[in-house]
This record gives sequence, structure tokens and C-alpha cells, in this order.
Amino acid sequence: MISKTVAIVGVGAIGNITTKLTSEEQINLILIDRDVVESHNLKNQPLYSKEDIGKPKAIVAAEKLKAKAYPEDLTFENINILDRADLILDCTDNLETRFLINDYCLKNKKPWIYAAGIKTKGTVMNFFPGEVCFRCIFKPVHGLDTCETSGIITEAATNIAFLQVSNALRTLSGEKVEKEMVRIDVKDNSLEKIKVKKQNCIACKGKYEFLEGKKQTKPTKMCGSNTYQIKEDFKIKEHFKIIKGITLFKDGRAIIKAKSEKEARSLYSKFVGN
Ligand SMILES: [Zn+2]
Repeated sequence: MISKTVAIVGVGAIGNITTKLTSEEQINLILIDRDVVESHNLKNQPLYSKEDIGKPKAIVAAEKLKAKAYPEDLTFENINILDRADLILDCTDNLETRFLINDYCLKNKKPWIYAAGIKTKGTVMNFFPGEVCFRCIFKPVHGLDTCETSGIITEAATNIAFLQVSNALRTLSGEKVEKEMVRIDVKDNSLEKIKVKKQNCIACKGKYEFLEGKKQTKPTKMCGSNTYQIKEDFKIKEHFKIIKGITLFKDGRAIIKAKSEKEARSLYSKFVGN
């Protein structure tokens, strides 16, 4: 594989394995993740160890695998991070980021591969410009933003990641890949291929609501345990900094463990200030 660049969005349960496998190829890697390592991640996210708790996942993973890290929340404002990528691998835990990637890839005529899973099940699908898109299949309904990967078992995450990476390598080398949606369930070894039709949805028609920032449903509550994201305009010189268990990012975000948004905000004012 000659100097291709792959962007992986999300370095959680599936993303850990996808990243590891992709890094073994001659590929330039860009890792984007808004989250920090938590103790419960250690059992199914092998790139992280105890010393990494509280640190941004993108930075920890990139250091281990010689990738370029973006410890950021991918939004319509910083989506140009993806400009260098030939292919985008979605390993996120939320639908909004997927709609954003879908808009971006349609507009910029780039392929992307969707991967998601919950418990013993997982889904992988290749998306190519001009064909059926993510929004043809899924509708952006408020409240759909479930934390999918938080509950995936390692065996399912591993299978999904292997499928995603094998499709990625074939796509990069110009080979034909399947256009069906592939669903697996490790509980009974089942694999199902589903034909999906292009619906000429509004994104297909060139209306990129997520890319234009017209649609935003992102909650402040993060996936996983009781973690909140607060975006303020503080500036730090480092890529990240941990103060009293609060992780501050260079892009002006803070990730705080708390029982409610109110408590997160009060901890923030107490330790970081306004
Ligand atoms: Zn569409």
C-alpha cells in the first residue's frame, strides 16, 4: 500500500482494534477522539493501561502506534482534519458524528466505512459517493444518540474491527468491496447481508445539514459512565492537562466526571474557573 492516509474517528472498543490492525499496514494514520481513558475501558481497549487514565485516548493511542493525534470533538468546524484522508473509518459511539462524516464524504467524494456494535452484535457497511448513503438508511431523530460501543463485548468488537479493516484495505487497493450491510452476532455465529437501496435522501441531493452546522444534537453527557463535556474558551498551551481529575483539552473542552450536568459545571467553576 503506497502512502495512503486513513482517518479513524473514535478509538474506543472497536476503534482500538481497527487502529491496531491498520497501523500494521504501510498507512498514514490520523486518530480523532474526543474522549479520555477511563478505568472501565482497560478491560476491552488494549491500547490503554492504568497510567493512561484521564489522558486523551487519541494521544495515548497515537503515541503507541506512531499516528497523528487529534484529541478533538469532530464537528462541522474542524472537519477539515479529514481533508488529508483517502478513507475514513467510523468507530464512533454516536450517530451525529456519523451524519457529519456522511455529509463530508458525499460532498468531498470520499469513501467511508461504518462500524457499530452493541453487546454481541455488530454492523459494518461500506459507503461510496453516489451510492446509498448513511442518511438514506438512518434518520436523524433526536434522542437516538445511544452509547453503542460502551456495551459491546470484546469478541464482537474484534470481529467487527477485522471486517472493517479488511474492507478498508481492499478499498484502498482499488478492489471491489461489498455494498450490502453486514450484520454479525457472535452469540450464534450468524452473519447476515442486507441489501439497502439508495433513497435519494436530502444528503444525496446535496443538502448537507450536519456539515453546515444546521443540525446539532450532541449532548454534553458523554458515553460510558458519568462523564460530561463542557466547552468553554479557556486556552492551554499543552495538548491536554489534568487538574483535579478534570481533563482540559487544547480545543477548549473539559471532560469531567460527575453525577449531573449541574455538578459537572460546579466542579468546573471550582477547579478551572470561568
Ligand atoms: Zn442518501
